[in-house]
Amino acid sequence: MTEEQLREVLGFYQDLGIKQIYRRAAPPGTAAAADTVPTAPTAAAGPELVVLPLAPVHDTLEKIVQDIGDCKRCRLHERRNKIVFGTGNEQAKLVFVGEGPGADEDEQGMPFVGRAGQLLTQMIEGTARKEGIPLLRKDVYICNVVKCRPPENRTPLPDEMEICGQFLFRQLEVIRPKAICALGSTAAKALLGTKDGVMRLRGKWHQWRDLPVIVTYHPSYLLRPYNQNAKREAWEDLKKVLHFVYD
Ligand code: SF4
Repeated sequence: MTEEQLREVLGFYQDLGIKQIYRRAAPPGTAAAADTVPTAPTAAAGPELVVLPLAPVHDTLEKIVQDIGDCKRCRLHERRNKIVFGTGNEQAKLVFVGEGPGADEDEQGMPFVGRAGQLLTQMIEGTARKEGIPLLRKDVYICNVVKCRPPENRTPLPDEMEICGQFLFRQLEVIRPKAICALGSTAAKALLGTKDGVMRLRGKWHQWRDLPVIVTYHPSYLLRPYNQNAKREAWEDLKKVLHFVYD
């Protein structure tokens, strides 16, 4: 089996929700044992396992789009119009991760194009301008945890986040930004595996793998008229991440 075929098989099991697969070591002297990729010897006794990443070694955003294809891996495909992959600078130093597409995004196939998206653009460009950082929305990368619109804009379910999250993680590994800004608690949950809400998580640095993460409010939450305090806090969070990335 080639590495690519193995990746597809593992991806299939991951889509089914199987997170751990154990490989039994081939008995010495068998053909399978001869095929085993040699690894550096370790001090530990017992069989050595070569764990292959689910993403291809030289992954690209294009390959991820191809792998998503006409995706039906979770129930969110049933009512979607368009898959919303992500937009922006593919070498961005800063990536914003939202929850999932809304009606406008589902219609246009682009993330954050509705009212919340306009507010996000204002927040990015307005804060950058005030802070003297030459940055436009097109300079960052924007994507979501799930790529298809959840019905009635409900929060994505854990299994949907788990399945679609593999594509988000591949996007982040390909772009390797200097920092990630998680917009809202769903994005924070997907990246940090926490159940804590934004109020508890915001204002401090976290980590997804080895990349720094800042958590702030989702722009759609900020559109509610009574959230003035949250707006001010979101601007603070944005200032913090912009200076970290672009100073
Ligand atoms: S949400 Fe993600 S995993 Fe689910 S169908 Fe859409 S692209 Fe596939």
